Amino acid sequence: AKERGRGCAIAYDVEMDKDVAQRRFFERELRGAVLTGEIDVHLQPILTADGETLVGMEALARWNHSYRGAIMPGEFIRLAEETGLIHQLGNIVLQRACRAAARWPGLFISVNVSPVQMRRPDFPDVVMAVLGETGLEPGRLVLEVTESVMIDDPEKALVALRSIRDLGVQIALDDFGTGFSSLSYLRKFPIDKLKVDRSFVLDLDKGAEAATILHCVINLGRALGLRVIAEGVETVEHARFLRAAGCHEMQGYLFGRPMPVTEFEAIYGLAPAP
Ligand code: C2E
Ligand code: CA
Ligand code: CA
Ligand code: CA
Repeated sequence: AKERGRGCAIAYDVEMDKDVAQRRFFERELRGAVLTGEIDVHLQPILTADGETLVGMEALARWNHSYRGAIMPGEFIRLAEETGLIHQLGNIVLQRACRAAARWPGLFISVNVSPVQMRRPDFPDVVMAVLGETGLEPGRLVLEVTESVMIDDPEKALVALRSIRDLGVQIALDDFGTGFSSLSYLRKFPIDKLKVDRSFVLDLDKGAEAATILHCVINLGRALGLRVIAEGVETVEHARFLRAAGCHEMQGYLFGRPMPVTEFEAIYGLAPAP
C-alpha cells in the first residue's frame, strides 16, 4: 500500500509539473499574441425585441492562434486576468470595437470589461483616450461588467463606474442573476442595462420555473428603469416568450452568431473600413 501511495505521489508531481510547464508555454504564447495583435474581435448582433431591427452589437474576443486556429475566450481570459495581460488585451478589443462602431451611426457597441481592468484607477482615462482616437460618440459605447466588480471592492467600483458614466458611456450589468446581492447593487450602482444571463433562457426549455424567474428578473429591471437584454436566444419560442415578458433587446444564435467585422458589415450592409 505504501508503494502504491508513493507511486501516486510521484505521478501527481509529474502531472503538476506538466501543468505548470503547459501554463507557462500558454502564457508566453498569449503574451506574443497580444504583442503582435493576434487577438481578434468578433461581433454579435443585438436586435430590438421584435427581432427586426439591428440596434447594436457585442464585441467578443478571439485569439487567432498561428496553428491552433481560433481560440475561444473561455480558454484565455482567465489566464489573461491572472497574468495582467488583460489590460493590453482589453485595450485591443476596446479599440477595435470602437473603431468599427464609429463607422456605423446609430448602433451601439457593447464591450466586456474584466474586474481586473476596472480595478485600475486609470481605466476611465483609457476609455476616454479610445473614444478620442476613434471618434466614437460616448453614448454609443456600452461597457459590460459583472456583479463581481461590485463585490470585490464596492467603494472603488462605484468611483470607477461613476467616472465612466460621467464620460457619457453606458454601463450594462452582464450575466445578471448569477451573482449575489443583486438587488442592493442595482440600487447603489449607476447602471443603464441589464443582461439576463443565458442560463435562464436555456432553462426555459426545461420547465415553468425558469419562466417564473425570467418574469421576475425582467420586471425588476423594467421597474428600475433599466433596459433589459436577453442573451442566448436560440429559438423562436425563446424570442416569443422574452418579447412578451418585456425584454427590450435580444441577442443569440437565432439572430446571429459572433462573426468577423468584415462579415458583420457585409451582412448588415454597413460601411466597410476605408
Ligand atoms: P458573455 O459576455 O456572457 O458573452 C456571451 C457568450 O455567449 C459569448 O461566448 C457568445 O458567443 C455566447 N452566445 C451568444 N449567443 C448565444 C446563444 O444563442 N447560445 C449560446 N449557447 N451561446 C451564445 P464567447 O464569445 O465564447 O465568450 C465567453 C465569455 O468570455 C463572455 O461571456 C465574456 O465573459 C468573456 N469574454 C469574451 N470576450 C471578452 C473580452 O474582450 N474581454 C473580457 N474581459 N471578457 C470577454
Ligand atoms: Ca458580455
Ligand atoms: Ca453574458
Ligand atoms: Ca459570461
